[in-house]
Formats: sequence, structure tokens, C-alpha cells
Amino acid sequence: MIDMHVHFFPPGVFQAIWRYFETPSNGLWNIKYKLYGGKLIQTLRMEGVKRFTSLLYAHKPGLAQYLNDFVKESADHFPEMIPFGTVFAGDGSSERVARQIFEEYKFFGIKLHPFVSNENLDDPRFFPVYEIMQDYGKVLICHPSSVPVYLKTDGANRLRNVLIRFPRLKVIVAHCGAFEYGDYCVLVDDFEYLYFDTAMNCVHTKAIPNNCPGREFFLKNQDRILFGSDFPNIPHAYSNQVAALRKLNLGENIERKIFNDNALNLLALKEF
Ligand SMILES: [Zn+2]
Repeated sequence: MIDMHVHFFPPGVFQAIWRYFETPSNGLWNIKYKLYGGKLIQTLRMEGVKRFTSLLYAHKPGLAQYLNDFVKESADHFPEMIPFGTVFAGDGSSERVARQIFEEYKFFGIKLHPFVSNENLDDPRFFPVYEIMQDYGKVLICHPSSVPVYLKTDGANRLRNVLIRFPRLKVIVAHCGAFEYGDYCVLVDDFEYLYFDTAMNCVHTKAIPNNCPGREFFLKNQDRILFGSDFPNIPHAYSNQVAALRKLNLGENIERKIFNDNALNLLALKEF
């Protein structure tokens, strides 16, 4: 099993994120797994995860470099990690950072979280990054949709603007684009390299109602959907996420694609 939506922040940043999640007025949830570093990875191994991403993002200038260096160091220690970094447009060094993380650090992609960073996906300051990524076949994982508590914005249109300019850029829309499933689903018809991850989709949780795009969505996009969990920032047991997807009764063939093969193909990883 490959988990394409695992967060891997330095301990201090994780603690700040968890405090934010658990402040009731933010309308989020209590974190079941307050784990980082080796303990986080050990738990994933116990759940049967063979490879996983290191998703992180910056919310202010000056943080991205620290986060990227942390991922590089961690990936050197943990070979199962699929290293992902981030870029903060406000740092004014997008192209330099992209060259460092893709040419020197050999990361597989970046994560961008437009709501947290307050930077739009189609901000021209990201264009040099996308150009490098498109050339190298790197992957952009982004969270432009309103789940769990963001205002519905024009995220899908902004992503479309990016894809019109960079049609070969590989993009994963996190959380299947919840709750604007339809807006992101139509992008699949126009762009060959548009994917989804399943983080927190379809699993029973009070925290997020309407979290399942439905069985038809999975059937239609069976070659574009990659398993993801949002671990460790989740309110439920890890196994609940796996069970929720199996409960859709998609069949062995489609399950193998979602839990393993689609990620292998997208990242050109060798079988292990
Ligand atoms: Zn996440």
C-alpha cells in the first residue's frame, strides 16, 4: 500500500498545527495520532504502508527552506519516504528553491495549500516552478477545494488556468476535490495528468459530512485516484480510512490501482 497524503513536519511545527486543530473555535477535530519522526513511520509500517509522502507547506516567508531541508534529511534516513517539499511564492526565490529541491534534493514533487499560505495556485510567481516540474515530470499535490472548513472559492478555475499554461504538469487534487467534486471532475476530461487523492474521503467522521464523492466517481476515475489518508492529522483510526474505501466494493482490480499501482505509475517507482 502506498499512502500519497501523509504529512511529515518537524516536531515543533506539528505541535503548532495540532494546537490549531484542537482549538474548538476553528471547527476542526482532535488529533488521534500525535506522532512525528520515527514513531510516525513505525505506525504506518504497522498499518501495512510500504511507501508514503512527506507533505508539508509554509504559511509565512522564510519557512519553506527549513521545511525542505528537514524533508531532505528525513528522506536520507527513511528510504520508504517519497519526499515532497514546498515553495512559498512570497519568499521571492521560487525558481532557486525549485532547482534545489528537484535537481539537488531529487524530491518527487511539492505540496501547495492555497488557503494556509494565502497564495493562489495561478500566482505567476509559481510559473517558473511549474515549468521546471513539467520538464522533470514532478508532481504538484494541492488542496484548492473547500474541505473541511474553507470558503468555496474559485480554486478549480485557478487550477484550470495553471493547466492551460502547463498541460503536462502532473497534479493531484487532494481529498478528491471535496466538496466541489463536480468542478474538479470535469478537469479530468480536459487534462491528461490530473489525479485525486482520497484523504479523509468516505470515512465515517463527524468532522466532515458529505466527504464521499460516490462510487461512480471512483469507477470513472479509477486510473486517476491514489490512496491518501491525511495521517497523522486525523480524528479516526487509520484502518477506518482503508475500510471506508473497500466498502465501496470496487473490486480487486480497481482497489489494486487505487492502493498501489496508480501511484507506482505516476511516480515511476519500481515495485518493492
Ligand atoms: Zn492534508
